[in-house]
Amino acid sequence: MSGKELMYVQEAFDTNWIAPLGPNVDAFEKDIANYLGVSDAVAVSSGTAAIHLALSLLDVKQGDTVFCSTLTFVASANPILYQGAKPIFIDSELSTWNMSPIALKNAFEDAYKIGKLPKAVIVVHLYGQNAKMDEIVSLCNQYDVPIIEDAAESLGSTYKGIVSGTIGKLGVFSFNGNKIITTSGGGMLISNDPELMKKARFLATQAKDPAPHYQHSTLGFNYRMSNILAGIGRAQLEVLEERINARRMIFEKYQQELGLIPGIEFMPELYETTSNRWLTALTINEQETGASVQMIINSLAKENIEARPVWKPLHLQPLFEGATYYTHSHGQSVSEYLFSTGLCLPSGSNMKEEDQTRVIRCLKESLKISV
Ligand SMILES: *Cc1c(COP(=O)(O)O)cnc(C)c1O
Repeated sequence: MSGKELMYVQEAFDTNWIAPLGPNVDAFEKDIANYLGVSDAVAVSSGTAAIHLALSLLDVKQGDTVFCSTLTFVASANPILYQGAKPIFIDSELSTWNMSPIALKNAFEDAYKIGKLPKAVIVVHLYGQNAKMDEIVSLCNQYDVPIIEDAAESLGSTYKGIVSGTIGKLGVFSFNGNKIITTSGGGMLISNDPELMKKARFLATQAKDPAPHYQHSTLGFNYRMSNILAGIGRAQLEVLEERINARRMIFEKYQQELGLIPGIEFMPELYETTSNRWLTALTINEQETGASVQMIINSLAKENIEARPVWKPLHLQPLFEGATYYTHSHGQSVSEYLFSTGLCLPSGSNMKEEDQTRVIRCLKESLKISV
């Protein structure tokens, strides 16, 4: 927490706005919309709820297909199953670790041939790094399929001067406890389409028909954000830039100290984009470093340092067994390569310099490199 959250929470208590609506919700939505430069934002109970709403708004239903990045957290794709639709997973490419336009093109060509285009494409911006949006947008426009940007991890990142998450038809952010700013739990759905946003508010508040009695003709959800939690979000947004700077500095220090070790490669930053560096991620070549990702994780754990592998690709998850998957190129699955070699290091915005120095020292020790 930054310190000012309690002021907004107190305001909610003082005015007795203890509900999933109220002045903090309105103000947080306005602040986010202004920050992102979009016309409207709808605050919801989680990033997952925002993705679910986005799919509902695009009328994704039983029997439909949705293309989705494979290298991501499970929440990117779970709402596809909520709707009874089928995910088709798209591989990553090496310059962003995100959706491969080549794999996407192959998936579109096959879908077009059988006359079954996807209802939507969910593009994830992993660990703050933007996907190759120009290429992805051009393909989706060619087939007239809307894009949902899962920007849960990339709040404040930019793509060619545009704020991450605002290029597609709909954008999704998360304020879960682990994200760069948090409301403890929460999310935001954004769009420049006023009709979609109006419908999003309707669906997120139980889809009540405009009648004096309780009448419902559409299936709705209880997905709005609490006015107490929105108060936390208002104060958090005020420190977002500070946090991006802190995380980028953490990344840079890791890169300076470890980047020249043979066999270590840091997650790239695509030309003309900036990542919020939500997490510092890198790959370890076991042949060159003499240590596997798991060996390093275990060795850091002995020093009470928590490091983690990168997300397990969704096409490898038992939950999605049998789902179609398009690799970046024939015989080259980039997401599987990143999964087997990828490592995420402690990257919290409040990490002290001496703590980071200790992580770096322990990591070098685990590689048996003199420090
Ligand atoms: C955190 C996260 C989500 C889900 O957000 P919640 O607010 O936890 O529901 C979705 N996608 C990605 C990539 C995430 O990291």
